[in-house]
Amino acid sequence: MPTSMRPAENKGDLIIIGGGASGLAAACIAMQRGKRVLLLEARDRVGKKLLATGNGRCNLMNMGAPVYFGHPRFALEVLRHCPREEVLRFFDALGLTTVAEGDLLYPASMQAAAVLDVLRLPLADSPRVRMVTGAEAVDIRREASGFSVRCANGDSYMAPAVIAAAGGPAQPRLSGSDSLFPVLEALGHRLIAPRPALTGLVTQKGDVRGLKGMRLPARCTLTDSAGRPVAATEGEVLFADDGVSGVCVMQLSRDAGALLERGEKPRLYLDLSPLLGLMPRRMRRVPQGELSPPGENRAAVLAWLTQRARHLPAERLLTGALPRLLHDRLRGLSPADTAALLAAFPLDVIGLRGFDHAQVAAGGIDPADVDPATMQSRLVPGLYLTGELLDVDGDCGGHNLLFAWAGGLLAGRHAAG
Ligand SMILES: Cc1cc2nc3c(=O)[nH]c(=O)nc-3n(C[C@H](O)[C@H](O)[C@H](O)COP(=O)(O)OP(=O)(O)OC[C@H]3O[C@@H](n4cnc5c(N)ncnc54)[C@H](O)[C@@H]3O)c2cc1C
Repeated sequence: MPTSMRPAENKGDLIIIGGGASGLAAACIAMQRGKRVLLLEARDRVGKKLLATGNGRCNLMNMGAPVYFGHPRFALEVLRHCPREEVLRFFDALGLTTVAEGDLLYPASMQAAAVLDVLRLPLADSPRVRMVTGAEAVDIRREASGFSVRCANGDSYMAPAVIAAAGGPAQPRLSGSDSLFPVLEALGHRLIAPRPALTGLVTQKGDVRGLKGMRLPARCTLTDSAGRPVAATEGEVLFADDGVSGVCVMQLSRDAGALLERGEKPRLYLDLSPLLGLMPRRMRRVPQGELSPPGENRAAVLAWLTQRARHLPAERLLTGALPRLLHDRLRGLSPADTAALLAAFPLDVIGLRGFDHAQVAAGGIDPADVDPATMQSRLVPGLYLTGELLDVDGDCGGHNLLFAWAGGLLAGRHAAG
């Protein structure tokens, strides 16, 4: 028997499909407004993905300028109707204390579980809310008195309004799914093909051979076939046996994907000067105006090597500055070649990692048919769509959850009437 069973009946004022960030926020608001909520969650528990966000710390929103893709104007409209101050007030009222690290907002406990708990516990305690797990919605049907939602296990639920908050296909092991897309398409909504976003880059194997497991601070510059810089970020790069990842790399995956789609041969250059103390370790996306060709720190690296050569034998020049694996890769090179490599370590990008590794999915239901003031479908009155299932994806750093919370609050408020 599914967990959290409350009233035996399958009728409510509102059905919410998906117990993730957006669906839980919507359920809280509707519950606070006295509505009887049926929350249908496909997996065995709600908030599975939420628990993994921000490396288990949950970067729950971004306090800086919004950075959205897909339908950025729609995202800004949603945030105009539900600004982040309102999202903050919502969490504050639930009892969540938060702390900012620059523009990134986290729970003060640095535990994603704290965010899930302030949402889930009031819902679990409310006699008006029934959370049904193991309930994968496979059909939404319009009836004379509202909607009936059928689940894969054969159970059906009825209510005058439905909120679709089923997320997207990124990271299926953490509850990512595309199962609601065909259901929404059958109701007339247009699907923009989902694809992985904020994901790692697959590189030529030889480029990363022997470096697996390393985390190195670097400035990453992505170039096109002609060697022109397209985008750059700074942060920590994680090496695997098939390529690289880390927030700064994931932020370049959209541009790398676009280059690959155009048949270009993108290359990622890592400026490893931060390892030598020649550049600060920062975490940022480099603004377009600051883009520079890879290798600009080459002279500084060579000067650093030359200075060290005054008191260290050639074979020990990099000892103590570079991890051994990288050190081994550079052994035997001339100082000029070493400097060239450290200032612009080249990786040929041959692909993107798939949904299994992506933080979000780009694509989804076209928000052109959704009212950003209410999240109500323009095609099916009484049906609301929110969160990652829409064709909006944000940059790393809390933008995606902010969009999910804001849409969930709007949908919950308006569906509750
Ligand atoms: C590893 C990782 C780390 C991340 N870290 C951050 C971060 O720190 N900050 C940030 O802003 N964003 C982060 N994100 C992105 C963020 O988690 C998502 O954008 C956000 O959770 C989307 O919220 P949602 O409610 O739309 O979907 P989800 O949170 O994915 O919830 C959707 C829910 O619907 C359920 N469901 C799916 N289909 C059905 C169906 N047919 N019937 C019933 N239920 C269904 C799913 O099981 C799931 O529980 C991260 C993502 C990943 C994978």
